[in-house]
Amino acid sequence: MKLPEIPEYAHPTIEPGRRRPRVFSHPVFWGYASLALGLLAFASVLCFHFPQLLTSVEVRAIYSEAFARYLLLGGLIAAFGFGTIAVLKDQARASGLGGVALATASFWLGGATVEFDSIESTPYSLGLDWFVLSLFFSAVVFIPLEHYFAHRHLSPLRPGWRTDAAYFFTSHVFIQFLLIAVTVGTTFITGFVEIRAVKEFVVSMPLWLQFLVAVFVADLAQALIHRTYHRVMPLWRFHAVHHSSRELDWLAGSRIHFVETVLTRSVVLLPLLVFGFAQPAVNAYIILVGLQAVVAHANIGVRFGWLEYLVVLPRYHHWHHARHKLYWDRNYAIHLPVVDMLMGTFKLPRDGSWPEEYGVMKLETVPNGFVAQHLMPFQGGRKYDDFVN
Ligand SMILES: [Zn+2]
Ligand SMILES: [Zn+2]
Repeated sequence: MKLPEIPEYAHPTIEPGRRRPRVFSHPVFWGYASLALGLLAFASVLCFHFPQLLTSVEVRAIYSEAFARYLLLGGLIAAFGFGTIAVLKDQARASGLGGVALATASFWLGGATVEFDSIESTPYSLGLDWFVLSLFFSAVVFIPLEHYFAHRHLSPLRPGWRTDAAYFFTSHVFIQFLLIAVTVGTTFITGFVEIRAVKEFVVSMPLWLQFLVAVFVADLAQALIHRTYHRVMPLWRFHAVHHSSRELDWLAGSRIHFVETVLTRSVVLLPLLVFGFAQPAVNAYIILVGLQAVVAHANIGVRFGWLEYLVVLPRYHHWHHARHKLYWDRNYAIHLPVVDMLMGTFKLPRDGSWPEEYGVMKLETVPNGFVAQHLMPFQGGRKYDDFVN
């Protein structure tokens, strides 16, 4: 097997010991932050006006109305303030003005005091509230973390961020359709499978132990389907989309083909339902997987030492994304490296090094852009060797 030519690729690592400038001193910070907050505030006001259409009952269960109103008020004030600073400093003025304009429109539409009638249940609704909350908190936590503890110099607006933002947006806004697709398949199958002895054993365990076992079982299922994606051609085409990112950060992990999301979530949830894990343990697992999937892709270069062998951390999953012949079939776990150790697919350099380059081996096989990437797996005519060498 011969490696394809690897084109020149500038990869900006950070010199050891060099201190990063403060986030706030970046010339576009105030303007871009104002615009982003203005957009999120405007989306939030729309959620208050059309809760039945734009907010999901599953998501509403995790926050209170008062919390959402205070958050919106804070966002509006910040969008105004940051936009004003951008204009006064004459830095990213257009974005700052855009943020102020969106905040003004949001106030005009009722701001944080919009009244709404009681929410009646609707068969289908969007998860715009889930998108706003998730994006806001992810950005507030991970943008500073990736700035101060970065492995590579990387702007949050690095190449490909629009594509990944489109994935982030659709996977959150269409959360309800995703949940329906996953639960239809899994409940159908669990209706036929009844392993009473295992269920009784699982239920007899305390909740914290159920959670730990659920994480292990789910990660084993995840790693097995993940390895199948890498080794079976029709499935690799879907998964190649996830591996097409040339830079990894907290947003890059969102790049997952819709078919892969539904299939993986179903395969992972199935053993948890069949074995009868208690709902709180399953819920805790769902929160963990959401968080750890983001952390695993994050551009965080902190050295965690022995902890890297116990839980999946950025360097571990970054090696899974390495554009490297010896690593394309390694490190499938997303929670526990012990799963890879059991499967014989564990590989992590002991010297603390990171991959030189990320992406699929044959770069030309995955197009750019959300729509083209979603269509790619359905466009036949290629052999497995065309994708993986
Ligand atoms: Zn993979
Ligand atoms: Zn990944």
